[in-house]
Order: sequence, then C-alpha cells, then structure tokens
Amino acid sequence: MERTLSIIKPDATARNLEGEILSMIQAEGLRVVAMKRLYLTTEQAGGFYEVHKERPFYGELCAFMSSGPIVVSVLEGEDAIARYRKLMGATNPEQAEEGTVRKKYAQDIERNSVHGSDAPETAAFEIGYFFSQLELVG
Ligand code: GDP
Repeated sequence: MERTLSIIKPDATARNLEGEILSMIQAEGLRVVAMKRLYLTTEQAGGFYEVHKERPFYGELCAFMSSGPIVVSVLEGEDAIARYRKLMGATNPEQAEEGTVRKKYAQDIERNSVHGSDAPETAAFEIGYFFSQLELVG
C-alpha cells in the first residue's frame, strides 16, 4: 500500500469540478483516506512548492495556488503515486493523453487542475505539510 498527496487546484474549484475529479480518482480504485478544503496564503503555497524555488515560474505558481480554494486529499492504494500521476496526465495539457484529468479539464500548463506527488519522499513531505497522523483514516 502506498499513499500520495492530491490537490484539486484553484482553476478546478472555480469551475466546480471537485466532484468530477474525485469521481475519476475513485473510479481508478484509489481510496481517499483524508481530505480538506483550504485557501492558502502565498507563503503557505511557497512552502509547499519549496522544491521549485529556483524555477522561473515559482512566483506565478505560488500566486496561482493562493488565488482560490483548493481541495487537498491523501489517496491510498497499491502503487498509488504512479497510478495517480498516470490518471493526472502530462503537466502540459496539450501533451496529456485522452482519459486523463488534465486532458479533460486543464486550461494551460499552469492552470492544470491537479497536483500529485511524484515520489515516495515527496509524498511523505507533502502529506505531512497538510495532515497530521490523526487525520489519516485508512
Ligand atoms: P507536475 O508534477 O506535473 O505538477 O509538474 P511540475 O512539478 O513540473 O510543476 C509543478 C506545477 O508548476 C505544474 O503542475 C504547473 O501548475 C506549474 N508549471 C509547470 N511548468 C510551468 C511553466 O512552464 N509555467 C508556469 N506558469 N507554470 C508551470
């Protein structure tokens, strides 16, 4: 069993897509073992995306992620990290495969509707950023 962090980003909550995206996640067989709705400050978004600090789009990304509410959840399943990344699709929706969340809903490379951890170490950091042990209900 593996856990990964999912975020439904502000472009998606603005379009009322939380239910649609959660349906796709659950149809894939991943279990939601924690979930909450948050409205991050720019600083909180910055702390989450610390690994991207040197990238040219860091400032824009933090502004976007704090521009509206997000829904963060922890997904559990066998091979959950890779399975959720596959379901999300490529970062740039123009390159995302049919049937993926980003192909269906992303607006552009930044406003791409969802986040998912990319490795076990990042998943552990990201889950701990938003949730305490008590909030993980497997
Ligand atoms: P992910 O793992 O597929 O989410 O992609 P990355 O880790 O490379 O980037 C993190 C997030 O930064 C992406 O999901 C986008 O929201 C945003 N992003 C990535 N590349 C760009 C870019 O070239 N320009 C802008 N403005 N945002 C980007």
